[in-house]
Amino acid sequence: MSAPPDLPHQVFRQAVEQAALAISITDAQANILYANPAFERVTGYDAAQVVGHNESLLSYKVTPKLVYETLWAQLKRQRAWNGLLVNRRRDGSRYLADLTITPVVDAEGHTSHFLGMHRDVTEVHRLERQVSNHKALIESVVDAAQVAICLLDERDRVVLDNQEYKKLIGALGSEPASTLLTGLREQMGAEFDQARARRRAISHREVRVERPGQPPRWFVCAVSWFEEQDVSADAFYEPARHHYLLLTAQSIDEIKRQQEALRINSLSALLAEQERIQGLRETLAGAVFQLEGPLNILAAAVNMQARRREGEESTDIVLETALRDSRAALDTLRASIPDQTAEAVQPLNLNEVLRDVLKMSTPALLGAGVIVEWNPAPELPRIPGGATQLAALFRQLLANAIEAMNERRAEERIVRLTTLPRADHVEVTLEDTGPGIPAEWRYKVFEPFFTTKGAERGHLGMGLSMAQDTVARHGGLMDIDPDYPQGCRVRVQLPTGARP
Ligand code: FAD
Repeated sequence: MSAPPDLPHQVFRQAVEQAALAISITDAQANILYANPAFERVTGYDAAQVVGHNESLLSYKVTPKLVYETLWAQLKRQRAWNGLLVNRRRDGSRYLADLTITPVVDAEGHTSHFLGMHRDVTEVHRLERQVSNHKALIESVVDAAQVAICLLDERDRVVLDNQEYKKLIGALGSEPASTLLTGLREQMGAEFDQARARRRAISHREVRVERPGQPPRWFVCAVSWFEEQDVSADAFYEPARHHYLLLTAQSIDEIKRQQEALRINSLSALLAEQERIQGLRETLAGAVFQLEGPLNILAAAVNMQARRREGEESTDIVLETALRDSRAALDTLRASIPDQTAEAVQPLNLNEVLRDVLKMSTPALLGAGVIVEWNPAPELPRIPGGATQLAALFRQLLANAIEAMNERRAEERIVRLTTLPRADHVEVTLEDTGPGIPAEWRYKVFEPFFTTKGAERGHLGMGLSMAQDTVARHGGLMDIDPDYPQGCRVRVQLPTGARP
């Protein structure tokens, strides 16, 4: 290509002379014919010192031979080559050259010269390496952390995570971050959305993750924000920022397990104490009930005698004294029946109450070889109630079921516990594969002192009556399904708005 008519050849020379790039022109064997001032500055050689020498003068000899072979193969095809070479300056120091060689082809199509242009990119390379070293360092520190870490972009896509986070993929499904953030939102409500909208940090929140058929998992989560400058060319003059959400999560299952075991133990102790008091109430109420019968007969006899001797002065002082003293003794006995312990009413999730009951009853269930089919409703409205009273109620029903199945020596021992949300109440059904309750006893079993087992076996028949009492105090209903052929099916309905 020739110079445009209005552009003198001299301009080309001056442009090359004054260019900031190190420019050299060689013959077809890479012997230097010309080097510009920038070349002198970059290499430390005067043009006079390099002219006549091969470009290999600059080679530091650590550049792999294959690079040169590729370079030359490309030039042989009369194609430009670009790449990085390690060069040595005149003073022996090394630098990284970003070199472009372009073949100059003559009118006959032969390569007559080469044009070499290079610049020192040592600093750029150093910065690039430093960034990638820092990145590798950060990644290895993040990876080694015993906390699950993940970085989410504005579309909630995971752009960085660590080994601990990857382990959660197995435990919480394909998107642990979304599961944990959903858990946080459930736990914090509107506060979470506000914090997210204003990019405020959230620190140290406990999140419980429920998965069907598996024990719940517990994490301590924290959210912080990271702001990144847009690195695209578009944002060079108009800086833009991207925001990333940094989520950390640490499993606290072990601590929770210990807390849970402690809680269950103290609940068991509380129930045991309540049962002891109930037992006392039961025994004393039984005694009062037993004594009331003969005393009523005695009172009737005294009345009859008194009517017969109307007008006469009463002679049977002994009988009347005995009756009065007996009544006083009975009143004392009645007064000594301990009160039902008062308990604070709180919103309760019956799934949690029943889960506790199942945990407490595990030894009894295992001992009796009972299989538990636990079907909690995934979402259950809370009911107002006394946690201990309700736990005692369901423990009683479960104990009845186990005992009934032991009684029958049923081959298939299954307890099926189900919760269901209804319009204005929560329904709990407990089915067992025991002998069941005959239809004629369906209502009688709830009467005090009614027992199908016989008092000689230590049963006073107060269990279901007291359970009924607890349900009634909660404004609920309890009944026995008459059409359940496999065993016994007890249904408890507890209102979502009532107070015990
Ligand atoms: P060499 O023996 O020279 O070459 C190594 C291999 O390259 C050989 O095995 C051969 O396959 C191939 N080769 C070498 N010369 C030729 C040739 N004339 N024709 C075909 N194949 C050949 N090198 C640098 O290290 N730094 C530079 O800045 C640099 N700038 C250059 C600028 C231009 C314009 C050109 C044309 C070349 C440049 N070179 C540069 C390449 C240089 O000429 C050498 O090829 C290189 O330095 C390797 O030299 P060497 O003595 O180690 O090995």
